[in-house]
Amino acid sequence: MKTYSVDTSVQYLKGVGPKMAGLLKNLGIDNIDNLLTLVPRRYARKSLIKDLKLGEEARVSGRIIETHTRFTSKGKIFIVRLSDGTGNISCYFFNYSPKMKEKFKWNTLIEVEGQVSLFGRGLQLVNPSISFSPSNGRKLLPIYPLTYGLTHTYIRRVINGAFESGIYIPETLPTYIVEHENLLPKEIAIKNLHFPDSLEVADMARKRLEFEELFYLEILLALRKKWLKNKGIKFKKGSILARKFFDLMRDRNPGFKLTKAQHRVIWEIFGDMESESRMNRLLQGDVGSGKTIVAILSMLKAVESGYQAVLMAPTEILAEQHYFCLKEYLPEIGVNLGILVGSQSQAEKQQVKEELKTGKIQVVVGTHALIEESSEFKNLGFIVIDEQHKFGVMQRVRLIKKGVFQESPDVLVMTATPIPRSLSLTIYGDLDISVIDELPPGRRPIITRWMREDKINEVWVFVKRELDAGRQCYIVYPIIEESEKTDLKAAQESYEKLSRGVFKDYNIGLLHGRLKGEEKEKVMEAFRAGDLNILITTTVIEVGIDIKNATCMVIEHAERFGISQLHQLRGRIGRGAKQSYCILVSPRQISDISKERLKTIENENDGFKLAEKDLQLRGPGEFFGTRQHGLPELRLANPIYNVRLLSLTRNLAFKVISQDPELQKIENRIIKKTINHKYRNKLEFLEAG
Ligand code: ADP
Ligand code: MG
Repeated sequence: MKTYSVDTSVQYLKGVGPKMAGLLKNLGIDNIDNLLTLVPRRYARKSLIKDLKLGEEARVSGRIIETHTRFTSKGKIFIVRLSDGTGNISCYFFNYSPKMKEKFKWNTLIEVEGQVSLFGRGLQLVNPSISFSPSNGRKLLPIYPLTYGLTHTYIRRVINGAFESGIYIPETLPTYIVEHENLLPKEIAIKNLHFPDSLEVADMARKRLEFEELFYLEILLALRKKWLKNKGIKFKKGSILARKFFDLMRDRNPGFKLTKAQHRVIWEIFGDMESESRMNRLLQGDVGSGKTIVAILSMLKAVESGYQAVLMAPTEILAEQHYFCLKEYLPEIGVNLGILVGSQSQAEKQQVKEELKTGKIQVVVGTHALIEESSEFKNLGFIVIDEQHKFGVMQRVRLIKKGVFQESPDVLVMTATPIPRSLSLTIYGDLDISVIDELPPGRRPIITRWMREDKINEVWVFVKRELDAGRQCYIVYPIIEESEKTDLKAAQESYEKLSRGVFKDYNIGLLHGRLKGEEKEKVMEAFRAGDLNILITTTVIEVGIDIKNATCMVIEHAERFGISQLHQLRGRIGRGAKQSYCILVSPRQISDISKERLKTIENENDGFKLAEKDLQLRGPGEFFGTRQHGLPELRLANPIYNVRLLSLTRNLAFKVISQDPELQKIENRIIKKTINHKYRNKLEFLEAG
């Protein structure tokens, strides 16, 4: 008999093959391990025929009381009628072999399973799966999450087959933990996940597997935290440059004052910078809360200690905005500034790279070009990553590795995506977190309205009124990768239509990702300067852009965006003291979930509350893309609903690593082995900041 290990591709299991493996992949199942940890949504009991309900997935057993064949336009149907003493039901088989027919003898006890549908006045099962040896032991049957082309019966059969082929399921947690936490051993847990004798044991099985998943996640976080804390730069006390910058800024913006929250986080950051251990901090603050200035003051502190600092942004438009903002100030306080983005000419890039290498440039702003271009630094000491959720974790690693000497740069990552605490523990468990929980004074909440397409003329009337009052407006079109061409066309067409029609007396610009660097810059500058009244744009403006006079935004096909994306987009307006308006436009017919999203955005301005709602609607995997963070994907545990288990595993994991950092103790070897085996592709993650 062939034995499989849990790493074997499901394709090689009996009854699978390449085609079914493809379908299983849609459920996130690649190897046998994934298959065996596919958690049933629930368990169904064997039913009595009299209790069957229309539409349910049911299993019943009964004796055959009648069989016959019927001829229809679709072909022959074989019909078997069963009775279990409480009622009768018909089973219809469209595909049957003569051999199969022979087995259905009068009075044979069989068990069938399938979806209950209606036929005439009676209930029926169409093509149910059949068992000729009804098992009394297995009273509960797993109901799986399914995708196209898969049935519960099929998955059960494959899993059962895997067990029967003598699969080897090794234990993956140390014995002392299994015993102390009263967990089921791995193999028993897996078996009882699929074929439990009671709901209680199914629960224990599931808990054991969730425990393991969260435990290893936290072990990785603990290892990374240890790795990060090892080495760091100790920046000098004092902040003369930051003070100079601030004074200059206040000269130009009389009355400017940091908010209390900005003050607090700046001290948290400065404290980290002056300490020996390396800073690895997440700065979280809703859109418009003023994270940029915090970043600038911190970078200046690094420069004051003789180091170079980097500010990395996810788009060129945002990088340029940061650059132009800094250019107003840094040269005047004697700090050399540079920019590196993909669309610069080779000569320009070469020049910048040269100056980074010699140390002439002290602060550089850029996009991922900073990583991709083979730029070297003289002594990179401080890294800020703006809108970090737009980057993959590996991009960060590569940037951090550009730090020189034995020292690793301090890292500040900034995000406007607010994270409920339970999740931030999971995903950023290794980062220290600072929160700006206050907006600069004088902001008015944005007024948001959801309108149907057929009312678009009313929208334009409203927009005109705003334009005539001297304000500017964004009109946003979604660009979805899969249909990029047609989407882009929609934006272009609307540009032509609007500039010839309703808005012919106004200046309109068009901005999208396909424009060349300089063209983008030109359009953006014209809008910033107020030469354009309207900017028709795609989501290239989603993050960071800050133009106070733009007080109005129309989002076309708003139903195609997610909650957090809508909130980010809307964050482009409402940045000054004037009242801002956001109008979401959608067709009349949209899905219920889209309706719920739009209603939510219409009624809520608080990014934190929106994030929670988003989480509810989408689930944590998609919300964050744990994968994007370089973390193992959570397949079983949901940290939102499992806060207690999360903190239990977290405490345990961090204790293990602090007592046995190299995992050398005999009892912990199994942890090391499991990491090297199952999580080996996550090891680079350990070095990520
Ligand atoms: P975000 O946190 O979204 O990156 P920004 O840093 O772009 O926000 O700041 C949003 C706007 O608020 C900018 O125009 C900025 O100049 C302004 N701002 C930041 N801090 C303050 C403050 N303390 N008082 C008034 N305006 C501020
Ligand atoms: Mg920003």
